[in-house]
Amino acid sequence: MKKRYLLTGALHISHEGRLPKLRKGAIAIEEGRIAAILNDPQGSAFEAFEPVDMTGRLIIPGLINSHTHAVLLALRGTVEDIEGNLVYQYMVPASYLLEPAERAAIARLACAEAIRCGTTTMVDPLRHVADYAPAMIETGMRLWLAESCADAVTTEVGSGAYRFDRAFGETFIKRTKALIERFHGTEDDRVRVMMAAHAPDNCSPWMLAKVKELAQKHGLRRTIHLSQIISEKLQVEKLHGCTSTEYLAQNDFLGEDLLAVHWTFCNESDVETLAETGTRLIHSPASMSAKGPHPLPIKAILDAGVRIALGTDNMTEDMFQSMKSALTLHRGAYGRSVSPMPNDVFNYATLNGAEALDHNGIGRIAPGMCADIAAIDLRTPVMTPCLSAISNIVHYGHPGIVTDTMVAGRFLMRDRRLTTLDEGTTIDEAQAATDAMWTRFAASGADVPMPVRDMPKPTEGIRR
Ligand SMILES: [Zn+2]
Repeated sequence: MKKRYLLTGALHISHEGRLPKLRKGAIAIEEGRIAAILNDPQGSAFEAFEPVDMTGRLIIPGLINSHTHAVLLALRGTVEDIEGNLVYQYMVPASYLLEPAERAAIARLACAEAIRCGTTTMVDPLRHVADYAPAMIETGMRLWLAESCADAVTTEVGSGAYRFDRAFGETFIKRTKALIERFHGTEDDRVRVMMAAHAPDNCSPWMLAKVKELAQKHGLRRTIHLSQIISEKLQVEKLHGCTSTEYLAQNDFLGEDLLAVHWTFCNESDVETLAETGTRLIHSPASMSAKGPHPLPIKAILDAGVRIALGTDNMTEDMFQSMKSALTLHRGAYGRSVSPMPNDVFNYATLNGAEALDHNGIGRIAPGMCADIAAIDLRTPVMTPCLSAISNIVHYGHPGIVTDTMVAGRFLMRDRRLTTLDEGTTIDEAQAATDAMWTRFAASGADVPMPVRDMPKPTEGIRR
C-alpha cells in the first residue's frame, strides 16, 4: 500500500479557473492522489497519515517539462559555444555514439536535475529510448516517452546528404510499437508513450502518415520539432516548395493533439494556421536563446491566443530558466512591457502542460488530482521579501529553492535529499559516460569542431 501523508503548515497554490492563488490548508495524500485539503485536520480521520511539517514552504503543482531530451545532457557546456548545425552534426551523432548503459546513466542525471528543480513530468522524445526508459522510470518521474521517427537517414544529414529510406523509418516505427507494448500505461499509468515525428525536413508524407496512424490506433499524443533550424526550412522549401507548417497542413498532421516544438521560422500565415488547428506551441526559450534571443514570431503567437507550454529542450532540465526566459522574450514582443504576467508564465509550466498532454490529473493542486507536487522554501533570501510568491518564483526562482518533489504520492526528494537516486553515483556515472562519448566522437573522424575543454581529462587522473 502506498504511504499516506498529511502535509501541514504550508501555503499552497490552488487554481481558481486559470488564476493561481495562494491558499492555506493541510494536504492529505492517499493512494498517490490528493485526498483532501483541510483547514483544520483534527480528529481521527487522518490518524493513519504520516504528518509532514512543511511550515515556511509553498507547495506548487509539480512543473511539467513538455519537451526535453534527457540523454542530450551529454552535450552540456559544449555546443552552446560552437557554431554549426547542432542537430545533425552533434545531437544526432551523440545519441548514436552512446552505449545503452551510458544512455541510462545520463538519463538518470537528467532525472536528478529535474527532481531538484521541482519538475514532476518529463516529455522525452529521442532515439534508443528503450535503453534508458527503465532508468528514468525507476526514479519515479511521470514520463511521456517517444522514439523519434524519421525516414531521412538523419545520421547522414550532418555531412550534407538527405537520403530517404523506408527501412530506416520502419526501424523507429518498430521501436515505437515495442515501447507502446512495454511501457504505455505502466506504473499505474505514470508512464505513457507518445508518437514523435522528428521534424518536417526528415519525415516524408509516408512517415508522417505512419506516425499519425499509430497515434490514432493507440490514442496517443503526438509531437514534432517544427521550424526549428534554418536547414529544416531550406530543405522543406526545396523538397515541397512550402513552409514546414504548410507541409504539415497538407499532410493533415496539425491539430490540438500535436505538441509542436519551437516555431522559430514560422511566418504570420503559419501562426494563423497553427492557431486555427489548435496546434500547441511547446516553447524552450532558454536553450533556444543560447546564441541570442530566440527569434520566433511570439507577438503573432500571443495575439492569436495560442496555448503555450514550456520545455527545456537540450542541455538542461531547469524549468526556472525556461520560465524566466519565456517571461523576458514574450514581454520583449510588446516592446518592454509587463505582458505576459508571472501568473501566465507559471501556467505555461503547469496547467498548459497538463492540457497539452491531455492529462486532467496533473498541473493543479485540488482534491482528486495526482499528488504531483513540489515545495518551495519561502524562507530563503531569494524568496524574500515576498509580496507575490509567483512573481518571485518566475523572476528569480532557481532549483536551490525547491525542498521537496513528489510524484504520485511518493517523495522523490524530501528535505532536499533525493530518495530514489544516489546522487554522487549518478553524477560520477554520467560524467564517465559523457567522457566516453566525446572520446568516441573525436575518434569518429567527424569533420566538425570539438568542444573547448577546461576540465582535466579523465586520463589525467584528477577527479573533481
Ligand atoms: Zn528537441
